[in-house]
Amino acid sequence: MEHFTPEVLISEEDIALRIDALAKAITEEFNGEEIIVICVLKGAFMFCSDLIKKIELPIKLEFMQLSSYGDGTTSSGNVKIEMDVTENLNGKNVLIVEDIVDTGLTLTTLLEMLKVRSPKSLKLASLLFKPSRNKHPVTIDYLGFEIEDKFVIGYGLDYAGRYRELPYVGVLNAGN
Ligand code: 5GP
Repeated sequence: MEHFTPEVLISEEDIALRIDALAKAITEEFNGEEIIVICVLKGAFMFCSDLIKKIELPIKLEFMQLSSYGDGTTSSGNVKIEMDVTENLNGKNVLIVEDIVDTGLTLTTLLEMLKVRSPKSLKLASLLFKPSRNKHPVTIDYLGFEIEDKFVIGYGLDYAGRYRELPYVGVLNAGN
C-alpha cells in the first residue's frame, strides 16, 4: 500500500479557536431559539461534534448521508440522499453542518432539497471552502477556513476511507 505522511495545514488549536467564533455567531443569531443541526456524514462528524458543544442554544441533532454520481469530468453529477433526517423540518431553524464546499454541487443540491420542506430558516456551516474550485455559488453562513486547491484529509475528511481520525486538517505527501 502507498505510504503517505500527513502534513499539518490547519492545526488543532486553530480549528478550536475558529469553532469558538463560529459557535458564538450562531448562538447570537438564533437568540435562544431551538435549532436542528444536520450533520452531513461522514466528513462533518468531527467538526459538528466540536461545534455543537460550543453553541449555547437548544439543539436537536440529525444526520444525513449523501452520494454524488457524476461522469467524473463535469459538475453535472446527481446528488442522492442515502440517509435522511428523522425530524420534520417544517417551521424549524435548520443548520446544515458540512466538512467542505468544493465545486458547491453537493450543497446547492442539498439546500434545494431542504428548502421544499419549508424550514423557518436554513443556514449552512462549512469547515472548509475551496474558492478556486467553486462552480455552483452557495452562501456559506458560517465558514471555518478558505483553503487553496489541495486535497485535504483529517478532522473528519478521508482519503480512501482513512485519516478521518486525525485531530488536524492535513495534506498528504507521497513517499515520505
Ligand atoms: P462538492 O459537491 O462541493 O464538489 O464536493 C463536496 C464533497 O467533496 C465534500 O463533502 C467531500 O466529501 C468531497 N471533497 C471535496 N474536496 C475534498 C478534499 O480536499 N478532501 C476530501 N477528503 N474530500 C473532499
